[in-house]
Amino acid sequence: MDKALLHKVYDTETFRKKGHELIDQLADHLDTKLQEKSGHAIHWNEPEDELSFWQNFLESGNQEHLFSEITKRTTYIHHPHYIGHQVTPTAPITALTGMISAMMNNGMAVYEMGMSSSAIERVVTDLLCKKIGFDTSSGGFITSGGTLANLTALLTARKVILKQDVWNQGSKQQLGIMVSEEAHYCVDRAAKIMGLGAQGIIKIPTTTNYRMDTTLLEAHYEKAKEKGIQVFVIIGSAPSTATGMFDDLQAIADFAKTKKLWFHVDGAHGGAAIFSPKYKTLLQGIEQADSVVIDGHKMMMMPALTTALLYKKSAHTNVTFSQKADYLLTESELEDWCNSGKKTFECTKTMMSIHWFTLLKLYGEDVFDAYVTHLFDMGARFGEIINQHTKFEMAVTPMSNIVCFKYVDDSLSGEAQNKLNEHIRQALLEDGEFYIVQTKLRGIHYLRVTVMNPFTTETHFKNLLEKISKLAVSV
Ligand SMILES: *Cc1c(COP(=O)(O)O)cnc(C)c1O
Repeated sequence: MDKALLHKVYDTETFRKKGHELIDQLADHLDTKLQEKSGHAIHWNEPEDELSFWQNFLESGNQEHLFSEITKRTTYIHHPHYIGHQVTPTAPITALTGMISAMMNNGMAVYEMGMSSSAIERVVTDLLCKKIGFDTSSGGFITSGGTLANLTALLTARKVILKQDVWNQGSKQQLGIMVSEEAHYCVDRAAKIMGLGAQGIIKIPTTTNYRMDTTLLEAHYEKAKEKGIQVFVIIGSAPSTATGMFDDLQAIADFAKTKKLWFHVDGAHGGAAIFSPKYKTLLQGIEQADSVVIDGHKMMMMPALTTALLYKKSAHTNVTFSQKADYLLTESELEDWCNSGKKTFECTKTMMSIHWFTLLKLYGEDVFDAYVTHLFDMGARFGEIINQHTKFEMAVTPMSNIVCFKYVDDSLSGEAQNKLNEHIRQALLEDGEFYIVQTKLRGIHYLRVTVMNPFTTETHFKNLLEKISKLAVSV
């Protein structure tokens, strides 16, 4: 046992020196990427090549190059040509709040293990509830990602809506959820974790515009009932992931009310539009939700993972994992806002509330409006540019910053066009100048863009389309 090694690990002067160097390195990275001083959005390597690089590095790499190699050999989210997945180019200040959390390492499960960050969490979630339009009986908490937040909300819904206490006693009753066929796959996963099986997931078909067809709700509900399925929750996507289309939350809220269902809004991506006077109309009806999910690491400039789960009734935050039925909880248990672990799936979690609070304190609420509104505007703008091109076609007119489109070659069959677009995307990936993704909608292969960087311009869009046009004749 080498005790001296532990002294070395905790040496404060090494931390100071390495820390300063790292900040300089990351600031240079930011400068290069944001300003496009380096042409590429991704440093693409085949997985096997990347694996052997790091296997070798552990053996013989120069430790002085460790941090720079990690940052170099990857995807540059801050590059304006990064228009792929819905992960945000973090506001640089939140890289620093991330560092505070990593160093302080307050585990947050109980109040004493994160006093500042627990109180801050309350301030942040109260503010979000207010922006949604909830009244003062609302409340929420912050948890590790939209996937976990959606699962947690569905567990709360089951506990609150059903007479039987499934959490404690299990159930033989077939339970069901209603959700758009375009919803994020994590909803499907949550339902299956809850033991609902595929038969418990009542998928509502979408309109030609990929929004939940709310005219079909009644019929699907009745059919489920006939089969003996007890539906307890309906989920609206705001927006759905593949196409970025918002469900009609008002219509879903009305339906939930008539059937006495829990109404959950998956606003992982677009919930942040509560801050946008221009786009919050897309969320009309959200204030009638029983629970809402909003990701900080998507449309709010924060590092992954940090997700707000907000409830119309703050008392519901404490019932999900309670060993007692909710009606048995005492008033003091219901009021226990500061002990995070009782409400969250996690036991230990990071001090993630400090990202939200720091952005609010330094830049004010307007920063979220500026970000969301600009990016949604740019989604629409990219759509217009695509429409002007005879060689490109969109899946649907965008409602957000997500745009699905394809290169069209009328001389080719549908299947050959799918292949062509698949090849285009692979060529783009290997080339690395732009980073975009892809999706399949109703059997058609689309290229998919999410505008996440406020410095991506119309010129970038035009250059991308030009590049694709060239690739289309060469791949
Ligand atoms: C991204 C996303 C999720 C999953 O959230 P994570 O934070 O990645 O776990 C869920 N629903 C929607 C609509 C999303 O866009």
